[in-house]
Formats: sequence, C-alpha cells, structure tokens
Amino acid sequence: MEKTIIKDKLNRPLHDLRISVIDRCNFRCQYCMPADKFGPDFVFLPKTALLSYEEIERLARIFVNIGVEKIRLTGGEPLLRKDLPVLVKKLSTIDGLKDIGLTTNGVLLPKLAVKLKEAGLKRVNVSLDSLNDELFGNINGRGIGVKPVLEGIEAAKQAGLGVKINMVVKKGLNDTEIIPMAEYCKNNGLELRYIEFMDVGATNGWKMDDVITKKQIFEMLKEHFELEPVDPHYFGEVAKLYRYKETDVNVGFITSVSESFCSSCTRSRLSANGQIFTCLFNGNGHDIRNFMRNGATDEELSNRIAEIWNGRDDRYSDERTAETYKNRKKIEMSYIGG
Ligand code: SAM
Ligand code: SF4
Ligand code: SF4
Repeated sequence: MEKTIIKDKLNRPLHDLRISVIDRCNFRCQYCMPADKFGPDFVFLPKTALLSYEEIERLARIFVNIGVEKIRLTGGEPLLRKDLPVLVKKLSTIDGLKDIGLTTNGVLLPKLAVKLKEAGLKRVNVSLDSLNDELFGNINGRGIGVKPVLEGIEAAKQAGLGVKINMVVKKGLNDTEIIPMAEYCKNNGLELRYIEFMDVGATNGWKMDDVITKKQIFEMLKEHFELEPVDPHYFGEVAKLYRYKETDVNVGFITSVSESFCSSCTRSRLSANGQIFTCLFNGNGHDIRNFMRNGATDEELSNRIAEIWNGRDDRYSDERTAETYKNRKKIEMSYIGG
C-alpha cells in the first residue's frame, strides 16, 4: 500500500498511537482504578477479547502507513501482558516507525528491562507519585512501597532505556511530594513530568478543586530551583518543558486541565480489545477488532481507520466545564491507557 497522510476535521495529522495491551493492573491507584470500584469481583476483558500480537502488529503497520511515527504501549499495566518483548520485537520491524515507548508502574522492569531493550524498546515512562512509602502504598491502593519502583527505574537505566518519570499530582493527596520528587529526579538525571489530575473515567471522583495546576507547581519549584524554558522538540509535543539551569536535566508539565493542547493533539488510541478512540475523553470507541476478525483486508482496515480520523473533531480539554464533565460518556483510563 502506498503511504498516505491523513488529517482530521481540525487539520490535525495522525502522528502517534497509544496501544493498550491489557486492561488489568497490579496496582489500584486512587486516581485511576480505585480499589473500591475495581474490587475482586470486577470483570476484566477475557483473553479472547484482547487483540493478539499478530493483530496489533497488523494494525500498527496500517497506522504507520497513514502517518503514525510513534507508538507507546500502555495499559492497565502493560508488563502484565505475557511475553511483551515479543510484541515489541514485531513492532520494531515496522518500516517508518521511529519510536516505541512504554508507560509502566515499573515494578516488573527488573525482570523485563533487558529483554525489552533487546527487542527494540527505546524508552520507558515510569509512574511514581511519591517517595514516601506509606503515602505511595496508600495511593497505589496495594500498600506497595517505593523500593520496587526505584529498582525498576534503575533496571531500565542499566538496560540502556531512556527513562522519564510521570507524577500525577492531586491536591491534598501528594502535593507535599512535589519538591522531594523534583530533587530526587534532578539528582538522578531523570526528567520528571508533573501530570495534572484529570477527569478521565467515571470512578475517580474528579473535582476541579482537586487539580493543582502547572502554574501552582511552577511557583513552588521556583522557590527551590532556577528554571529556563525549553523549546518543544516537535509539533504536538505534549509536555511543556523547562531545564534546571546549568544542568541538562529537564522537568515537564502535562497541563491537560489548565492549558489544553487539543489544537496540536495528533494522538489516536487503540484499546486492548481493538477499539479506536480519538480522544481520551470521548467514550465512543470505534470497533476495528471485529471488522478485522470478520475478514477485512488491509486496504479496508486502512480506509476505515482513515475515515474515523477524518471524522474527528474532538477538543474536549478546550471545552471542559463542570457540565461537560457530568454529561459526557466516560471511558476509564485503565482501559485506554492514558
Ligand atoms: N500502568 C501504567 C502506569 O501507571 O504507568 C500505564 C497505564 S496508566 C493509565 C498511564 C498514565 O496515566 C500513568 O502515568 C498514570 O499515572 C496516568 N493517570 C492515570 N489516571 C490519571 C488521572 N486521573 N489523571 C492524570 N493521569 C492519570
Ligand atoms: Fe494501574 Fe497505571 Fe492505573 Fe496505577 S495508573 S492503577 S499502575 S493502570
Ligand atoms: Fe487530545 Fe482529547 Fe486531550 Fe484534547 S482532550 S488533547 S483532543 S486527547
């Protein structure tokens, strides 16, 4: 098939793809899969519903053919999916795919980092919201301390993977960790990205009042560090970046709530059971798995994906109000992977 570039209704190209490989997780983070809502009786997707690695590879090739250059694997917890390096290896053979990343809670990295790197993974984003064992155990809902995550970070570094740290900040929960996390990451040469607590899904009880904005975090940081802005590396870069003066260490902000970036949002999402979502906040998924399993050709799949992208006009964060939060059809973060 000839390579084509497609644009959505707001003229945004399709540039990157998040693939959720599993909806399960070994954590129950309060802001994502609260333990009281995702208890022992919660029904996750059956194995047959998940896209196989062959199916993911096939779709990924088609996505790359219509413009995708970057793929990030996520979940749920992607490292829980059996033999993940096998998928990474398959993806790494795709011509035109420039970058493969992974977002993880990190605890399985000591076991998998080397294999993932050998398979072609370039970078990992490890989520860590606190350096305090008790608080972190409370946030992850499983009483898991900080040590296994720090060991995961170290294993990824040792394996030669690029490592960034994601910290979701929620008022009254972990705002006391903003400075300790900055210090830890700066001292260890790690780029930390503060993520504003988002209203994804219907289970995390989001309120605008719980959000600590980039501006507020930046003011706190300025009392301890000298920062200078860093230009975006490419169109659609999500993080707003700064550098600690006289170092080569960056710190970033994902300002999904306070400074929306919909006009440059070039991201599509593929859920673990093969639904395409054109926005983190648009709960209307487009099935592609059954279409594929019913015998669609590559060309038909490509046309279908292009049609979905061409019809996209999502700009939820630009339009967010308390009303839109209440009224929209919601989709869980653990399902489409952040
Ligand atoms: N389990 C992996 C992890 O935690 O990194 C990957 C999936 S997780 C859904 C992807 C990212 O979304 C993580 O960095 C997580 O912290 C972030 N996240 C989850 N719920 C969020 C929320 N309500 N607001 C902002 N970020 C959130
Ligand atoms: Fe699991 Fe990641 Fe969600 Fe935490 S943020 S519950 S680790 S999927
Ligand atoms: Fe992209 Fe939707 Fe987020 Fe806007 S709200 S940046 S369109 S995912």
